[in-house]
Amino acid sequence: MTPSIPNRAHDEDMLDSLTVGRRIRQLRTERGLTLDHLGAELGRAASQVSVIENGKRELKLSELQKLARILEVTVDELLRPEAPSRRAALEIALERAQRGPLYASLPLPSLPVRKSLSDEAIETILALHDELQRLHRERAATPEEARRANTELRKTMRKRNNYFGELETTAKGLLDAVGHAGGPLSQRVASDLANHLGFSLHFVPDLPGSTRSVTDLRNGRIYLPVGQSDGADPRSTLLQALACHVLGVGEPKDYADFLRQRVETNYLAAALMVPEHTAVEFLLAAKSKRELSVEDLRDTFAVSYETAAHRFTNLATEHLGVPVHFLKVHESGTISKAYENDSAAFPTDALGAVEGQLVCRYWSARRVFDVSDRFSPYHQYTDKPGGTYWCTSRIQTSSQGHFSVSVGTPFATAKWFRGRDTANRATSTCPDDSCCRRAPESLASRWEKFSLPSARLNSSLLAAMPTGMYPGVDSTEVFEFLEHHDG
Ligand SMILES: [Zn+2]
Repeated sequence: MTPSIPNRAHDEDMLDSLTVGRRIRQLRTERGLTLDHLGAELGRAASQVSVIENGKRELKLSELQKLARILEVTVDELLRPEAPSRRAALEIALERAQRGPLYASLPLPSLPVRKSLSDEAIETILALHDELQRLHRERAATPEEARRANTELRKTMRKRNNYFGELETTAKGLLDAVGHAGGPLSQRVASDLANHLGFSLHFVPDLPGSTRSVTDLRNGRIYLPVGQSDGADPRSTLLQALACHVLGVGEPKDYADFLRQRVETNYLAAALMVPEHTAVEFLLAAKSKRELSVEDLRDTFAVSYETAAHRFTNLATEHLGVPVHFLKVHESGTISKAYENDSAAFPTDALGAVEGQLVCRYWSARRVFDVSDRFSPYHQYTDKPGGTYWCTSRIQTSSQGHFSVSVGTPFATAKWFRGRDTANRATSTCPDDSCCRRAPESLASRWEKFSLPSARLNSSLLAAMPTGMYPGVDSTEVFEFLEHHDG
């Protein structure tokens, strides 16, 4: 691994004095000036010039102007952010590493950056430092960090109305390239897309257990499972692999980066399966008839209910002017995915995280589990402290259990949806704990002292971020697999 020298430039104020100092030294030597010489012109002792060149002192503007004049360059030239040479970049990076908190925490002496220290030695130290830092970051990837990252991401999505114009453009470009005019994306078109991007498809029975697909960039192959055990859409698996490639997804920097990559690849895959142009045409026609329905979108584009619901939230605000919320809730009542730009107040923990929180038992996302008819969509109006919302929920089953997938909108915009005439109503005063958190007095008084339940913990909430180059993936297994199939 090469240490990331140029990127070290921008994260601290220290940079300026270090880089400026190195540039001054370089210019001074180029002009054949000694430390004494420059000191005399500047009106300072040689030792002071050395302190400046070593980046141990910030320069005042007047000093910068004076130095620029003496060295016959502009101030802008002196302040250029890039290191004057590759060697200087290495030296600056080493200085910075030594001044950082990680180095300070190690029982190591400070290492003077001398000419006798070879480039290779500096590179090795920097690589070790980077690796140590990565390990620290990895260890710090606690559930708290994951939840903070999730919260940040949800804010970003809200600001963008869950719509990514540049990914829509990328999707359109790809579909145009294989002559797909719109409408549902067949398995054949998905394969054409793979070929267009230079990949052949290989269906194998021995795909590593920790992966959904493996892409071999050396031989231009995508390996996919022969049969999908979890009922996942095979197109979706392929399109996600292609999306990773198209978006240039690499090893994530941290958990936030990992989440962002996942959101973008999911988005692009969904935008390929439900192309914007035809989907919007379809939705606008439905809206004009007041027949908006996630089911219809699902059926028209032959995708899963969750993909249809996800895609609906991408396009609803941008193209239909309808604010929405989306919830995926486990049968235990905990939220696994959430999005809103309609102020539907989701339950949160102290850090503002929504994932893993219990949804009010009166919300559509919970009530749908009590409905015996699982084939028809369930609709409900819920009076919440912030207003009345209309929601449509449906249950889907995966290897992790049953989940409800819900799409909702405020009362004022419910009029565009099929199912707006439902008689199902509920009232929720959550987060007030008298709503559904506290047991009724009669039951509590009888059982409070005589009950001992054992909780079923949702392991994904407690586990730290999976480690490894690609989180959750067994790299050895993947490399062995590729080795085995090579040639
Ligand atoms: Zn409640």
